[in-house]
Amino acid sequence: MNNNISQEKLNEIRNSVDIVDVISSYISLIPKGKNLFGICPFHDDNSPSMSVSKDKQIYKCFSCGAKGNVFKFIEDYENISFIEAVKKCADLGGVELDLHFKSLVKDSNKYSALYDVYEDSLKFYHNILNTASGKEAREYLNKRSINDEIIKEFKIGLSLQDRSLLTKFLTKKGVTKENLIKSGLVIDNNYGLNDIYMDRIMFPLEDLQGRVVGFSGRIYNRKDTSKYINTKETEIFKKGELIYNYARSKEEVRNKGYVIVMEGFMDVIRAYTVGIKNCVAMMGTAVTKNQANILKKMAKEIYLCFDGDEAGAHATFSCIDELAKVGVIPKVIRLEENLDPDEYILKYGYDKFKEKIDNPINVMDFKLSYLKENKDISKSEELAKYVNNVIKELSKVNDDILKEITLKKLSIESGLDIDFLKERITEKEEPKEEIKKEVKDDKKLKGYEKAERNLVYYMLNSKGVIKIYNNRSVFLSNPKLRRLANEISAYYHKYGEISLADFLSYIESYPELNETTSEILDLNLSDEVDLKVIDDYIVTIKDNLFEMQIKKLQDEIKKITDIEKQKELASKIADLKIQKENM
Ligand SMILES: [Zn+2]
Repeated sequence: MNNNISQEKLNEIRNSVDIVDVISSYISLIPKGKNLFGICPFHDDNSPSMSVSKDKQIYKCFSCGAKGNVFKFIEDYENISFIEAVKKCADLGGVELDLHFKSLVKDSNKYSALYDVYEDSLKFYHNILNTASGKEAREYLNKRSINDEIIKEFKIGLSLQDRSLLTKFLTKKGVTKENLIKSGLVIDNNYGLNDIYMDRIMFPLEDLQGRVVGFSGRIYNRKDTSKYINTKETEIFKKGELIYNYARSKEEVRNKGYVIVMEGFMDVIRAYTVGIKNCVAMMGTAVTKNQANILKKMAKEIYLCFDGDEAGAHATFSCIDELAKVGVIPKVIRLEENLDPDEYILKYGYDKFKEKIDNPINVMDFKLSYLKENKDISKSEELAKYVNNVIKELSKVNDDILKEITLKKLSIESGLDIDFLKERITEKEEPKEEIKKEVKDDKKLKGYEKAERNLVYYMLNSKGVIKIYNNRSVFLSNPKLRRLANEISAYYHKYGEISLADFLSYIESYPELNETTSEILDLNLSDEVDLKVIDDYIVTIKDNLFEMQIKKLQDEIKKITDIEKQKELASKIADLKIQKENM
């Protein structure tokens, strides 16, 4: 909702940036005709379905129907509120914002109280690590080559033995009991309210916008059954949606052109210590479709560098499958001796790890060696099983060249004829989700329905048409279209100008108009306004209106018996017919 920001300010902010520049900073766009095209980030797009119009300053996906102005794009791409997207645009365009606006940005987030709790806790834990009480923990970290600079960068902190330090601190800050418990940092037990974390090194977990939403606490000076304790999931901390180090690495990933995906956050921090900063980590569990889509948006190339053990290989395997579902074929980095990236870098140093990164293996080579592991393929039975498994995996591959290369390798390995192997691959088409939006069948629409719809389309694109609409007192029979047309007219009346992109931020306050506006934007009409055509629309619309009125009166006549009354209605009908003829 933008009820509290003036439309003038919104327009100023929107006009301070060019949608083409903004969208290009997220996805690459190629000019085609008078628009630009790119891979749509809002559905599993394989060919560029999203068009961006420099003239109209809007974008539109022909496949999934995503559309809007620059605010909407940022809002949906970054998963933030409308106000936050506007703020981002203002920053990009160098538009000054007043305090009122800034407080709106804060209030737009219904979880802001919870974010504040984490932000305060973060500072609290971080400060403790820098005090005398944090000496032992600091030494422990330093010994593991985590120096002060890294501690600062990753905002690492410390919780102490005391059971209620954080609870007291937050209570004093005015945090309610409800929010304390909601945060997952405090527990209400037999002893009253108590800290969850004690005597642990605190690693903050950040969301995609870089805001702290939880912690992972690690033991360092004692034995405990759980080496790490992660904050429980909350409304703002969902493991399946989180990617560790996303915000911090975004820029570097863009520069390098690829992102390295690891299993644990310690791996990411370790890589950072040796200057490899384009790494992210999944929060433990298997990669979700949501995360796969975010990774896909991050970079063209994705390298999977999971733990070197059996579990890591298994995780790599399932991650490849999840990524395949969103149309991404990653590359794989495997580490020897069952080492995870953290241990590997500590043991072998930067050079050897860099060499690994520079030579990732392709998905099929990884799968071949994985499927072969612990198998004695000199035995016919095991060889058959191996070949069958590889064939099964090959059926999932879309890349013909990769398929051919792998088949050749498999043929040599197994001694089986390559044509024979090829025949075994079944071209299974994955059932693709039907995303094409149901396009209203043009033929089914009556002439006047089409005229009303098209007239509104042109009102959105030309103030001349709005003037005609008003001067000729057009009345639309479709109530939804009528409502939209009147809103367009009101907007123009108030601001003296209209641009589609600005109007779109205006109707953020009128969600009931969304669907109708979206339908109108889906029309592919010529951009040139032809006044003759507009006139035809209006004649058709008015004609229909007369017909409807006449029909209504005729129905009434049939129902009444009073002759006088019938005469009266009949003369009204005659009047309407004359008016219609002379329109
Ligand atoms: Zn799309």
